[in-house]
Amino acid sequence: MKRILAAVCAVCLLLTAASDQARFAPQVLMYHLVEEEPFTDYTSLFVRPSDLDAQVALLTRNNYRFLFAEEYEKTSTPSVVLTFDDGYEDNYTELYPVLQKYGAKATVFLISDQIGKPGYLSREQIREMSASGLVSFQSHTKTHRDLTTLTEADVRTEFRYSKYVIESITGKPVKAISYPEGQYTDTLAKIAKEYFTRAYSTLPRRPLRGMSMYSISRKSVTRDCSLEQYWQMLQ
Ligand SMILES: [Zn+2]
Repeated sequence: MKRILAAVCAVCLLLTAASDQARFAPQVLMYHLVEEEPFTDYTSLFVRPSDLDAQVALLTRNNYRFLFAEEYEKTSTPSVVLTFDDGYEDNYTELYPVLQKYGAKATVFLISDQIGKPGYLSREQIREMSASGLVSFQSHTKTHRDLTTLTEADVRTEFRYSKYVIESITGKPVKAISYPEGQYTDTLAKIAKEYFTRAYSTLPRRPLRGMSMYSISRKSVTRDCSLEQYWQMLQ
């Protein structure tokens, strides 16, 4: 009897420890450009470098653990996934120095057809940032078309080709995707599962059973977001 009780208690302890260790769902934040002055009408997408610096400093001061998008899972302490969509060149000139300053990590979702085009990251910049261990490069598809309008064959090309191009530059596996414009369906999520282990959206949607890792929603950090609002977003 004693032995059985001891065994039961050991199981209880293990279960408690496991739930204790993984209490926090990561906060997932979405950015695009890091620029002092906006150069398109989508001004809300342009976060100032000084604001980004203050935000990462706040996370660091509060001991947030930085996870890459492909590492998303519950953690024992508060954690955050910083994501940057589209792969703009300022991710090298403005974001990367902030990450180096604080030793913070971020994920850039690349549109593989845009790599090396004016205003976008070059292969060399991607390689250097990837090798630093501070930036993970993942897929934002090949062309950034709305996946819900494509045939299944075209969707597969978007996934497979972008994965191949990015992996051939970084030499590291691409395991996560962010859906262009956040648009996806249950069918798309199922196809994404064949190529990736995590998929990100911007639209909170009820995931299909067992598909929560393919409908991870993100909170958008906009230009007018104060540090107080930023902090509230993390709560
Ligand atoms: Zn995008």
